[in-house]
Amino acid sequence: MVRLAEAAVSQKTFIEDDRFHEECGIFGVCGHSEAANLTYLGLHGLQHRGQESAGIVSSNGERLFEEKGMGQVARIFKKGPLEKLKGDLAIGHVRYSTAGTSTLGNAQPFRIDSRKGELAIAHNGNLVNAFSLRDALERAGSIFRTGSDTEVILHLIARSPQQDLEAAIVDALKQVRGAYSLVFITRDRIIGVRDPRGFRPLSLGRLGPAHILTSESCALDLLDATFVRDLDPGEMVVIGAGGVTSYRPFPPEPVSQCIFEHVYFSRPDSRVFGRSVHEVRKRLGRELAREQPVEADIIVPVPDSGMYAALGFSEESRIPLEFGLVRNHYVGRTFIEPRQAIRHFGVKLKLNPVRALLDNRRVVLIDDSIVRGTTSRKIVSMVRAAGAREVHMRVSSAPTVGPCYYGVDTPRRAELIASTHSVDEIRRYIRADSLGYLSLEGMERAVEENRSFCTSCYTNRYPVAFPEEEQAQKVAVERHRT
Ligand code: SF4
Repeated sequence: MVRLAEAAVSQKTFIEDDRFHEECGIFGVCGHSEAANLTYLGLHGLQHRGQESAGIVSSNGERLFEEKGMGQVARIFKKGPLEKLKGDLAIGHVRYSTAGTSTLGNAQPFRIDSRKGELAIAHNGNLVNAFSLRDALERAGSIFRTGSDTEVILHLIARSPQQDLEAAIVDALKQVRGAYSLVFITRDRIIGVRDPRGFRPLSLGRLGPAHILTSESCALDLLDATFVRDLDPGEMVVIGAGGVTSYRPFPPEPVSQCIFEHVYFSRPDSRVFGRSVHEVRKRLGRELAREQPVEADIIVPVPDSGMYAALGFSEESRIPLEFGLVRNHYVGRTFIEPRQAIRHFGVKLKLNPVRALLDNRRVVLIDDSIVRGTTSRKIVSMVRAAGAREVHMRVSSAPTVGPCYYGVDTPRRAELIASTHSVDEIRRYIRADSLGYLSLEGMERAVEENRSFCTSCYTNRYPVAFPEEEQAQKVAVERHRT
């Protein structure tokens, strides 16, 4: 068991690191004279899925054009870079990465020119057998330019004996295992694929005659485009001058859509895996209120992650909702810490309590997760210092006990407080008067299904196992996350 003091020492200093991070968002447009501009706007809508780098590759039917950069979309794509992205087709990518791999070389889309023609790829997800595939490819002479698992797919496509590009993509994807939602661009078409288990989302949209692929539907709203449907797990769509052609090239597998997309990642205004994220989050809050009732004066969401669950909790419990914590939206990911230590400095930069609402009240704080526990502890202390008589913490998901290997950046297992501590130990650590999590069954009731979702980070039961030879890589990844 890791002692709490040790867990606290290994935590990163600032509040924004005590969360799970999505690793990517992907977008594609086919058949619009402003394809690159639309992709730029689409990536704006997906910015919450990754802020460390972004890129767009377009095609004018004769060749591909590429622009990538570090940072947020608005910073990278000024007028000049966008004007260079010519053509009616484009794909784009936003990426979150851990500090060590945050380089321009790893920014997507990745582009290659092979015997099968020019091709670029944008990937959301994580392959569990990338290490062994890469090892075999390198032994056979492949030279890798990046540290990304995505590049493995390009090498497999380039080496495939299949001459037809779609057949080569299928051939490559039949060799990889794990999570992938992908968009490809060639000179004359874009291609979207979801892995057979459908870990990560990918939707199809329409804007006049143009077709769109996007990680989340909120990016369509920004363009006044229409949501058409989600791609099915294991579906591949080829979109070109002839419209959309759908294939099911992979043997069917049990579906494992990421439940955490609903808990936290996806925007509440999106429709993901056939459900409104906002509706599901409210239902999580309702279920939580039923399972973990508490006598209190006010419900206070931890902004922004606890907002919709708090709404549901308040409706179910009939305890009024109050915005007792105000978020400062203008905090960057890095800042200078003052020499003279200020208590809970990192949290205070981001959140401020509303004393007039909290003073002498019994408060229920609602958040979607507790990762390391360090942030919750600071928030509880902050609310108490603002005068709250009692502070009860309620969490709209089950305890997070395991890391994710399917495309979400998580701390290693030992840093997840719930992997080594009981609920009461966590309550004592965060200094709350009471602590209650939603059960896994409650989560499944909220998404109205219990079979088609991945819940591995709550159960430690992983639907796609790491092959033996990948264990070393898994250990290396966990070590890297420290
Ligand atoms: Fe989502 Fe958790 Fe499964 Fe990862 S392990 S895909 S975060 S539910």
